[in-house]
Amino acid sequence: MAFEGLSEKLQGALRKMTGRGRLTEQAVKEGMREVRMALLEADVNYAVAKDFIRKVTERCVGADVLSSLTPSQQVIRIVNEEMTELMGSTNAKLNWSSSVPSIIMLCGLQGAGKTTMCAKLAGYLTKQGKKPMLAACDIYRPAAIKQLQVVGQQVNVPVFEKGTQDPVKTAKEAIEYARYYQRDVLIIDTAGRLHIDEELMDELLRIRDTVSPTEILLTVDAMTGQDAVNVAKAFDEKLNVTGVILTKLDGDTRGGAALSIKAVTGKPIKFSGIGEKLSDIEPFHPDRMASRILGMGDVLTLIDKAAEAFDEQEAGKFARKGLSNKLTLEDFLDQMQSMKKMGGLRSMISMLPGMSGKDIDVDDNAMKKPEAIIRSMTPKERKDPSILNASRRKRIAAGSGTTVQDVNTLIRQFEQAQQMMKRMMGAKGKKALRNMRF
Ligand code: GDP
Repeated sequence: MAFEGLSEKLQGALRKMTGRGRLTEQAVKEGMREVRMALLEADVNYAVAKDFIRKVTERCVGADVLSSLTPSQQVIRIVNEEMTELMGSTNAKLNWSSSVPSIIMLCGLQGAGKTTMCAKLAGYLTKQGKKPMLAACDIYRPAAIKQLQVVGQQVNVPVFEKGTQDPVKTAKEAIEYARYYQRDVLIIDTAGRLHIDEELMDELLRIRDTVSPTEILLTVDAMTGQDAVNVAKAFDEKLNVTGVILTKLDGDTRGGAALSIKAVTGKPIKFSGIGEKLSDIEPFHPDRMASRILGMGDVLTLIDKAAEAFDEQEAGKFARKGLSNKLTLEDFLDQMQSMKKMGGLRSMISMLPGMSGKDIDVDDNAMKKPEAIIRSMTPKERKDPSILNASRRKRIAAGSGTTVQDVNTLIRQFEQAQQMMKRMMGAKGKKALRNMRF
């Protein structure tokens, strides 16, 4: 879980400070010292942490907070607001050009996740109704072009490449090609290096000045903490980027980069990469991120993900089938797929209030067994589990690499779910369902 340490320490410090009933100026100052330590340990930029503490302390020792009947809620609200502000207040959206195509130039150091992000962004924009195209302008790293082609294909987006010819020329030709084929967004993958060097910057400048991008997005690796912030500063000074994409916000990222980049560079984080899969991209919402860090959950992102993963009509069909006792194991399988699309149980639970930063004892593999069992059934068995006699159950267990007991458990759970659904819906549910349009 990203930000685990920071989340835990901040929540601990705030609990200690606010858990004594009356809040004193002294308690605020002591508490803020701990908050500052937590920020520095999470690799937040020193000046940024200092400024943050000053602002929060000033507001917390204000008369209206200290004399308030609910000082603890006030303090948490202030920390939440200031943290949101620190990360840019609101979600910074992409800019679009008035002429086609809008050009997004992605740059960053090698290994930051730039090429992967090109495809993630293309896939994300396709879902938003855009028609993106990718251009391969990293001609130095062996296999970079091939890599872009592979990920481009996975998200079903065309990739323009001209081998190792001058990347400035390739970028220019890509624009013509995109125009001709009416692709409205061109995403340019540029070269990366292990370290910032003049040659790289010169090439990026030449591409920038030739194609006049609508967006210059810098991809940085959140795992590198302060290094990511320094890289962002250096790139921005040369290229004047329009925004930052923070990758690898999954895993054990400490939080320093997310909390410092906007304050240090003045440039907003527009997206985050949250895993290796091409669907692991999220628009960056400072308010939601602050809530997550403070253990207040991120129910809004959870709702977004649910809306993306669940088809409303499908959900309606599921409910209607449950009610009329026609729910099949096939439907069960569909629901499992939707959960998977939402990032699995563990990631869903971590977004609930009070759960972020906690060691969640949920096994994402737990869904694998039922899935394998259902997949080993014939369509007829999935539709009507009542035909599952002993020999069929034995065959399914062997086919799915499980035991007959596992098969029995799943079927029992399925029957229980069917009964529960019927009970839950009852007369009230029937009425509500009648009013729903499917
Ligand atoms: P590039 O050199 O900047 O183009 O980087 P790549 O796109 O080749 O990515 C480098 C490595 O980071 C690959 O192994 C990716 O799978 C991995 N990666 C990229 N984005 C993420 C992310 O958001 N989370 C995780 N965990 N890994 C990522």
